[in-house]
Amino acid sequence: MSLLGGIECGGSKWECAVGTGGPELRAAETIPTTTPAETIGRALGFFERAGPVEAVGIGSFGPLDRRPRSPTWGHVTTTPKPGWAGTDIAGAIGRGLSVPVAFDTDVNAAALGEQRWGAARGLDTFCYVTVGTGIGGGGMAGGKLLHGLLHPEFGHLRVPHDRTIDPFDGSCPYHGDCWEGLASGTALQARWGTPAAQLEDERAWELQTAYLALGLVAVISVLSPERIVIGGGVMQRARLLANVQREVAALVNGYLGEATSITLPELGGRAGVLGAIALAESA
Ligand code: ZN
Repeated sequence: MSLLGGIECGGSKWECAVGTGGPELRAAETIPTTTPAETIGRALGFFERAGPVEAVGIGSFGPLDRRPRSPTWGHVTTTPKPGWAGTDIAGAIGRGLSVPVAFDTDVNAAALGEQRWGAARGLDTFCYVTVGTGIGGGGMAGGKLLHGLLHPEFGHLRVPHDRTIDPFDGSCPYHGDCWEGLASGTALQARWGTPAAQLEDERAWELQTAYLALGLVAVISVLSPERIVIGGGVMQRARLLANVQREVAALVNGYLGEATSITLPELGGRAGVLGAIALAESA
């Protein structure tokens, strides 16, 4: 059976894996994200040892260029991550291995993984949202991964911010108090001085519930997803999902009739790399 490669390119690590297009992996390796040349070189080394692969799918942090006819297709564009702006990830991998490459956002890759084997099985219109260091979102509409002029950036939508309740300016380097700037793990740590995993202040989690629900209602209102699969480190907080579900229902206030279900992912940390392998089939 022919082998396919997948890479989930994250800001702190790359998950590389080889599989046959099912949910099992033949080989996998985690590579720390350092310089572009070193990180890409180590990924190429992994595929040379674990392959040969017929194609590689890449789900990357962004923003990125995946317009099919663009001269900078396959590049990361304006990322604030030092040294990575303008990096031709897809081109370097494709040339290095002499294979076709499919390139999409990390969240669209994870969405595809959850749709094939996880919490969005059988759905053709759904969203995948991750709340971790940042907030990202992707998904499908009508069975196709969401793209547009570039790609969705759920994390940078605007949510109401009452400074009398929450005077925090927000942590987004581009927008301050966008959704990610108010409700990512980075924002939680900056506002409360404690990482989300150790944060016990109930006021913090009430505010977090409110912000997550406001953002999800915006997503529901625009895309009408059948389901939102929401993961990331911040969502591991006990009862947070249930509180967010209740708050979303309160905000929607019965208007939509049938409610979008909101669930945790089923594939955990493997969604991105499994989805990247699934992307490779389209390369
Ligand atoms: Zn922003």
